[in-house]
Amino acid sequence: MRLILLGPPGAGKGTQAARIVESKNIVQLSTGDMLRAAVKAETAVGLQAKAVMAAGGLVSDDIVVGIIADRIKDADCKNGFILDGFPRTVAQAQSLDKMLKSKKLKLDYVIELKVDDAQLIARVENRASETLRAGGVVRADDNAEAMKVRLSNYHTQTAPVSNYYKTEHKNMLREINGMMPIDDVTLAVNKIIG
Ligand code: AMP
Repeated sequence: MRLILLGPPGAGKGTQAARIVESKNIVQLSTGDMLRAAVKAETAVGLQAKAVMAAGGLVSDDIVVGIIADRIKDADCKNGFILDGFPRTVAQAQSLDKMLKSKKLKLDYVIELKVDDAQLIARVENRASETLRAGGVVRADDNAEAMKVRLSNYHTQTAPVSNYYKTEHKNMLREINGMMPIDDVTLAVNKIIG
């Protein structure tokens, strides 16, 4: 099974992806996690992405498309994968289509979690204070300032991605109210993916 989880930052994509990984035995491919690992390891990609990410901006399409193209070649992706945080622009969605077509692979579903901006800002602030309380390190972009940039990028660049799937891949896009309790969102996801 091959899925895309769409939705704004803080919508719960990572949480739901982790649950799908368990139930469907497929891998989660989070470009955000991969980029944070690259920043930490100070790779060439990481050095390029670091400042953009900390400010809440989007890393270039070429970089993230390259990361995904490399990753889906790996053996553990054979059984399927969940894309979390990718594609984030229509250009990335088009590149993904080309990539999958050349490998004769098909997407099963694009699931979009819908959450209001006000709730997203509150969630990110919560995530930051919970991480601090637990003695962890808060993500460089988990603050109100960067969140405003992330949300604005979402509305201008990522929201059109769901329209892309609506028009280019009929019947593939499913919307879920991401403001429901986490378990109810999971139930709704399971209803779609079976
Ligand atoms: P995330 O963990 O998905 O919220 O991603 C964290 C940050 O990584 C984003 O704010 C972007 O700076 C960068 N990023 C992750 N995925 C992408 C993508 N598909 N395209 C561009 N930038 C991305």
